[in-house]
Amino acid sequence: AGKAYMFMMRTRQPAGAVTNQLYLAMDELADRFGNGTLRLTTRQAYQLHGVLKQDLKTVFSTVIKNMGSTLGACGDVNRNVMAACAPWKNNPLYVDAQKLANDLADLLAPQSGAYYDVWLDGEKFVSVYKEDPKVTVDRTFNGFGTNFENCPEPIYGTQFLPRKFKIAVTVPGDNSVDLFTNDIGVIVIPDEVTGQVKGYNIVAGGGLGRTHRAEETFPRLADALGYVDKEDIFHAIKAVVATQRDYGRRDDRRQARLKYLVHEWGIDKFRSVTEQYLGKKFGEFKALPKWEFLDYLGWGDQGDGKLFYGIYVQNGRIKGEAKKALRAVIEKYEIPVTITANQNLILREIEPVWKADILAALQAGGIKDVSEWDSLERTSMACPALPMCGLAVTEAERGLPDINARIRTLLTKLGLASETFTVRMTGCPNGCARPYMAELGFVGDGPNSYQIYLAGNPNQTRLAECFAERVKVKDLETFLEPIFVHFRDNRKPKEPFGDYVARVGFAAIKEFQAGYVVA
Ligand code: SF4
Repeated sequence: AGKAYMFMMRTRQPAGAVTNQLYLAMDELADRFGNGTLRLTTRQAYQLHGVLKQDLKTVFSTVIKNMGSTLGACGDVNRNVMAACAPWKNNPLYVDAQKLANDLADLLAPQSGAYYDVWLDGEKFVSVYKEDPKVTVDRTFNGFGTNFENCPEPIYGTQFLPRKFKIAVTVPGDNSVDLFTNDIGVIVIPDEVTGQVKGYNIVAGGGLGRTHRAEETFPRLADALGYVDKEDIFHAIKAVVATQRDYGRRDDRRQARLKYLVHEWGIDKFRSVTEQYLGKKFGEFKALPKWEFLDYLGWGDQGDGKLFYGIYVQNGRIKGEAKKALRAVIEKYEIPVTITANQNLILREIEPVWKADILAALQAGGIKDVSEWDSLERTSMACPALPMCGLAVTEAERGLPDINARIRTLLTKLGLASETFTVRMTGCPNGCARPYMAELGFVGDGPNSYQIYLAGNPNQTRLAECFAERVKVKDLETFLEPIFVHFRDNRKPKEPFGDYVARVGFAAIKEFQAGYVVA
């Protein structure tokens, strides 16, 4: 008998939007062909773990036939396009951000029919992309010495991109998507008078993946590229993609992300080369308000008479009785859902009269309201890691709940019972749960051992830095106690933990830690 190969399938869900039909199909696929659980990801998509090779075709074709897709969810192409996903129907900026995510996903979708050949025996099934017929997405790119008009991939050309490519779209002030960690971040800019969408700010060159003991790999935040009017956004995105396509490193995969090109050139040179593809100059980056981390959890008003309900999903894993209760409610009321960038789930289009019944059904399935979760849990994230991810060197998803509980116990012991900050954990330095943006980040560097990252901030606009390596899980309290004591005794009023560490610096904390005796 041959080997029993097992796969992970990841879907494409621009802006995290999932139709009712697709939710029910995914729920069933998880039971029949996966490991009985559904996993929401940090890029607003699904991962289905444990799919056997002989079941792949059934699983993929089921997804496609239920208005889903996996096209471009992996590989050296544009990945799932994220968006600030609050279902605020009367806010034109949010409506536009989510629509633009869809359009960009469509713009940059691989055009070859091979996908349908493999999974549907060539049947070109029209899936999720319900493009607004008024919008014509021009996929051709006759740019700067390169013309792929006769190539099946008019944007990617013959070789695709040097490496994966990530885009997120948001509105001013809402950093729910970790905007600066993307290759391209787009910010919807309103007209000052009408409040309607006028254009877009663009940032470029972010990315988090790195490799242990390879200094030339590092996390990086995107820089301000410029502003374009609404009608130029597709051209601008294509120009950035084409610049990376033509100048990104293809000789070394570890150096192939756009962030290394922007780092090497500097944003000014990168801008000027991109402008040659665009055929015009970028406008001046528009001033923005302060960023905030939003998670849309709990009950909210859509603005059209209907409600939404954001449910905290611990580390994105939907399983057991909670999975059954969610399915029952989503099926009964034909509810569509949205996957958030923090691996949570928003139930949408809820009539106010359904609220009590939905709450009762979810509570019976053990689903707590977000107000009943510890605040550390609410903002924390872990990647799947062991046993699901082949790159993992240690635990993340299975380990973080206990670590959070231990941190809470320690904080309480030190008189910081109501303190909260962002905790994120990954099983390897690839950084899928974005630990390099956390106030306290754990990055697996060996069995039950982590690098500790400190000094990110609560709105995810500053990179954390590596404070220590090879910290063993069993030594967690001994390691953290002096850091928390130093914070408690020296912080400014209400100063967040990450801001405190950034202000006082690692050296002062390390010195204190070295002389501290745990009681
Ligand atoms: Fe796997 Fe590493 Fe990503 Fe975690 S961060 S899911 S261990 S690749």
